[in-house]
Amino acid sequence: MTALAKARALLAAYGPALAADPDLSRLLAEYYQDILRSHGLMRSKLAFDSCTVCAGNDGGASCCFEGAEDWYYPLLLMANLLLEAEPLQQRQRGGDCMFNGPLGCGLVARYGICLNFFCPELCARLGETEMLALRRAVGRELRAGQLWEECLGRWLWAHGEKDWL
Ligand code: SF4
Repeated sequence: MTALAKARALLAAYGPALAADPDLSRLLAEYYQDILRSHGLMRSKLAFDSCTVCAGNDGGASCCFEGAEDWYYPLLLMANLLLEAEPLQQRQRGGDCMFNGPLGCGLVARYGICLNFFCPELCARLGETEMLALRRAVGRELRAGQLWEECLGRWLWAHGEKDWL
């Protein structure tokens, strides 16, 4: 079973119970707020514009390379499904990550490497102060995601569901 299929199976089995758990709901809402904060910062600094150029360039070099989709494990894909981001299932361009669409990454909840990599062009464009603010926002997002995942992992484990690592 693929990681995405596993994520869907877990949601099919436990979705309503997970939604009813106050700790999980709160942590997911906090995670989403931190995602919105760092995405908002990327957007306001026009950083996404740079990423879109690479994502849409025929033959251009995208930092989102084929195989990166395999880093994604069931819980992180569950976060995307719960936040209504449907992962792309058809590669848009040979050599690119499966989740990379014409406007860049189609996910909302992203893996640490995806969030922590900033290409030299982007760093030069934003400058040290803006990059520091962005890195701090990303750090908060990752921490919030980790707290939600740990809580979800404990919940699943306590309900006898252990096949999701
Ligand atoms: S940022 Fe998105 S598209 Fe890029 S490698 Fe990560 S998951 Fe794939």
